[in-house]
Amino acid sequence: IEDALRAETVFRKAMEESVSTGLRAIDLKGRIIYVNRAFCQLVDRRAEDLVGSEPPFLYWKKDALTEHWRNLALCLSGKAPKEGFDTIVQRRDGTIIDVHLQISPLIDSQGVQTGWMTAMTDITESRRTRAELEAAHERFTAVLDGLDAAVFVTDAMTDEVLYANRAFLNDDQTYASGIIAQQLLVPQPELGDYPLDPRTLSAEQLPFELFDGELQHPITGRWFHLRERATAWVDGRIVRLVVATDISDLKQIDDLNRDQEARLQRTSRLITMGEMASTLAHELNQPLSAIANYSKGCVNRLKSGDFKQDDLLAAMEKANAQAARAGHIVRRVRDFVRKSEPKRSGVSLSGIVEDALGIAEIEAQRLGVRIHAAVSVDLPAVYADRIMVEQVLLNLIKNAAEAEEGQPPERRVVTITAEPVQDVIEISVIDNGYGISEENRERLFSAFFSTKAEGMGMGLNICRSIIEFHNGRLWVDPNPEGGSIFRFTLPLEMNIEQQPVNA
Ligand code: ADP
Repeated sequence: IEDALRAETVFRKAMEESVSTGLRAIDLKGRIIYVNRAFCQLVDRRAEDLVGSEPPFLYWKKDALTEHWRNLALCLSGKAPKEGFDTIVQRRDGTIIDVHLQISPLIDSQGVQTGWMTAMTDITESRRTRAELEAAHERFTAVLDGLDAAVFVTDAMTDEVLYANRAFLNDDQTYASGIIAQQLLVPQPELGDYPLDPRTLSAEQLPFELFDGELQHPITGRWFHLRERATAWVDGRIVRLVVATDISDLKQIDDLNRDQEARLQRTSRLITMGEMASTLAHELNQPLSAIANYSKGCVNRLKSGDFKQDDLLAAMEKANAQAARAGHIVRRVRDFVRKSEPKRSGVSLSGIVEDALGIAEIEAQRLGVRIHAAVSVDLPAVYADRIMVEQVLLNLIKNAAEAEEGQPPERRVVTITAEPVQDVIEISVIDNGYGISEENRERLFSAFFSTKAEGMGMGLNICRSIIEFHNGRLWVDPNPEGGSIFRFTLPLEMNIEQQPVNA
C-alpha cells in the first residue's frame, strides 16, 4: 500500500511539475500553502520564498495593490467569477505580465474545504496579439471610414451586408440607407447586369470584375461611379465588394461645360449670320424684286385684257423659280442657326461643302472672291455632324476671303479640296491672302485672338473644338504660292462602326 501510495504521489508530483499552468494553493486566510514549478517560473520567485507567505505577496505590483486585495477578497469569499478573471503580476526583475486566474475550492479527504486553488496562465502574448489585431482593425476602419467613396461587402449567396464603411451608412451621403442603396443602386444578377452570376464562380475565377460603370441612384438622382467585383472573403465565401463614388458634381460640371460649348457654337453661328445680314438681305432682295416685277407685269396684262396665256404662264413660272431661290436661301440660314444637339452620322462631304458654299458664296461675291471647290462626290462618307462641319467650312472660307482683300482680282480665289489620307479625310481651304506669321500660327486658335478691327477672335477657337469633338485635327500651313492653307481631318464612317459611339 505504501509503495502504491508513493508511486501515486510521485506520479501526481511529476504531473504538477510538467504542466505550464502555474498552480498555487492558499488556506482560508490567504496564506500560501503550495506552489508548483510553473507558478514559480511565472512570478520568477523561489518556492521557499512563497510558501508560508501572507498577502501582500511578493509578486503583487506595488501600485496595483487595491486591485490585488480586491481579487483576493473575491477569491476568499468564494465570489470569484467561474470563468476566471484577468490581472497582472510583477516578476522579480520588475517586468509585468498579464495573467488569467481560475479559482477553485480546495477540499481535503474528509470533504472539508481547507483553502483555495488558483490556476494561473500567462496571457501576455495573446493579449499583445489581440491588441495588435485591434489596432490593425482600427487603422483599417479609420482608413475606409475616411474615404468619401462608399465601400461595402455583401455575401454573394444571401446578400447579407458583411461590411459597410461610414460613407455607405451615412444618410447625408445620399444613400437612403445601406440596404436601399444595395437593392437599388447595385445591379442585380437577376436583371442580367453581370457578365456572370457571382454565385456560380469557382475559387479559381476570383477575383472577378462584375461591374465598372456609372449609375444614377433612382431615388436621389445622384450619379455614382460603381466598381463591383466578386472576391473571396476572409472566411472563404464569395462576396461582392462594391466601391461607389459620388460623381454628381463632376458630372454636373461636365454637363455644364458641354452646354456652354454648344451655346457658344450656336452664338458664333448667329454672329456669323449677323455679320452677313446685310449681304443676305441684298441677296434676298434680288429674287423678291424679280417676283414683284413678274407679278406686276401679269397684273398689268390681265387689267388691259390683252394677253396670251402662254406669256402669263412663262412669267408666273419665272416668279415661282425666284421664290424657290429665296426660299432656299432662307432655309439654309435657318438650318445653319437652328438650335440642335450635335448628332454625328455618316454624311457626304461634297453635300456639306455644297451647303456651306450656298451661304459662303454670297459673302464671297461681295468681297469679289471666287470660290473653287474640288470635292469629289465619290469620297467615302465621313462620320460627322453636318451643321457643325458646315460651320467650320463657312468660318474658314470667310476668313480666307477676308484675307484676300487688297489682292489683285485674279488672285482672289479660295480653293477647297478634300482627299482621303490614311484612315481619315483631309479637307483644305487654300487662300492667296496675306498669310500668317510664324509667331501667330498657334495663337490664332486661342480664344479672342484677332487682328481684325471688328473681329471677335472666336472663330478658329470654336472650329478647333468642333473638329476635336469629331476626333479630328485642325491646323494651318503656309501656302507656298503665298497665303495660307487651313487643313482639318474627319474620320471615315466605315472606321467608326466597330467603336462605341460617344457623341
Ligand atoms: P476673327 O475672324 O473674328 O478675327 P478667327 O478666330 O476666325 O477670328 O481668326 C483669328 C485670326 O486669325 C484673325 O483675326 C486673323 O488674324 C487670323 N486668320 C484667320 N484666318 C486667316 C487666313 N486665312 N489668313 C490669314 N490670317 C487668318
